[in-house]
Order: sequence, then structure tokens, then C-alpha cells
Amino acid sequence: MRIVRFSEISHVAPRWGMVIEHLVYPLQRAPYLSTAIDGSSAPEIEGAPVPLKSVELLPPATPSKILCVGRNYAAHAAELGNEVPDQPLVFLKTPSSLIGPGASVVHPTISERVDHEAELALVIGRSCRHLSTENAMDAIYGYTIANDVTARDLQNVDRQWARAKGFDTFGPLGPWLETDYDPANRTVRCLVNGEVRQESNTDLMLFPIVQILVWLSRAMTLEAGDLILTGTPAGVAPVQPGDVMTVQIDGLGEISNPVVAEERGV
Ligand code: MG
Repeated sequence: MRIVRFSEISHVAPRWGMVIEHLVYPLQRAPYLSTAIDGSSAPEIEGAPVPLKSVELLPPATPSKILCVGRNYAAHAAELGNEVPDQPLVFLKTPSSLIGPGASVVHPTISERVDHEAELALVIGRSCRHLSTENAMDAIYGYTIANDVTARDLQNVDRQWARAKGFDTFGPLGPWLETDYDPANRTVRCLVNGEVRQESNTDLMLFPIVQILVWLSRAMTLEAGDLILTGTPAGVAPVQPGDVMTVQIDGLGEISNPVVAEERGV
């Protein structure tokens, strides 16, 4: 299934929907919650379908937390002068950073270097803890594309990464969730203004998804809807207002977001 979160002019509140060809069939509720409570089947369609082209796509997750793996590709660790970690290096990103396809990433005036980071992302489908290598992949509801936008200079100054990764708009996510998806051997690519900046393959992750899930769930409950970013490959580079970032992953489509200058409010 291809699942979107969307809004229409006629509906103030965001809704979830299932995409079939060029139509969005609205769903009663967030799809991943249904598997957490009673293990029942997918939520039912509610209301008339609307053309996909007519809706605004929103980030297809409403996570309680966003867990990100840093330095999960050796070539990326090397390009920033870092050692390859011997266990997953995990940090948190703010749910308030999330934006959907086409929405603007705001380049903060207090940062002099804002980088793109193309990443495969996954959404958890049910509340879970202490996953095993045998059942960990069953906890995944679907996959999508993330851009882990980072204020690189502030990341280095702060040492903790919360601010550098957590600015509003620093979390482009979408365009949709694919529930039937094999994450193995997928090309991950980032283009800026149409020029390829990052291009790698998910098979080059240092810690595969199953290991990330086992490791994380030993520490904390993963809730339905939680979002996990699996790390970025080499090629991260700065963007400026006026640039357009596009992240593509085989089988998941692409997400494009323009970069705009920050306008200070009164
Ligand atoms: Mg990252």
C-alpha cells in the first residue's frame, strides 16, 4: 500500500489516505495505530476519493520521537573526519522539524553552513520493546524518504546535536509511506538544483535496519508512528537560499524542498 497524509482546502485537519493510481482514498485514522491495539486489519476508507494532484502532501508520520543514526555509512564518517562507530550512534530530532514535499526549508541566520542529508526512513507500526533479530522487521509499518537537514557549524559548536538537527523545517519527509517495500540494495541520492551531490546504496549501511531496531528497543519503547532515520551517505554539502534539494530513493519516489532565507518576525 501507498499511504499519504494530506490536507485539502475543504478540510482544515490533516487526514490519512491510501493512494490507488491517481486517487487518494481517505482513511478513518492513522493506519499504523490499528496494528498496535488489536492487531486488526488496515483502517477502512471513509469518504469519497480525491485526486492526488489536488491535495497538499504532509509528512507521512506523526512521531512521538524521531531517532536518527549518525555515521552509518563509512564514506560519510570519513568525509567529516570521524571514526566509524563500533555501535549505532543515535541522536534525536524534533517532531516539530517535519515538513512535507514542496515545503520550504528555512536557512537560519545564525548558521553559516546548512547541509542536506539524504536518508532512508522508516515508521514503526506498533508499540514494541526488546525486539529480536527474528521479529524486529515486523515492527516496521512502512518506508519513506527523509532529508536530515543539519546546521553543520552549530553541530560542531554545540557538541550535542539537538539544536543543529532540530530547527523548524529541518525534517523534510515523504512523499508517502510504502508498506510493501524491501529496503535492501536501494540507491539513495540527493540532488541540489538538479546536480547529484550524494549517491550511494542502502547495502552500505554499517548497521543494518534490523540491528538498529534491536539496539534501540533495548533502551526504549518504540511507539506506533515513531520515525527512524537510517543515516546519510557521503556527499553532504551546504545549501543556500534559492537552492532546491531533491532526495530520491529507488521505489519510494522523491521529495523536493526549496531553501529560503529566514525572515525575522517582529
Ligand atoms: Mg543524518
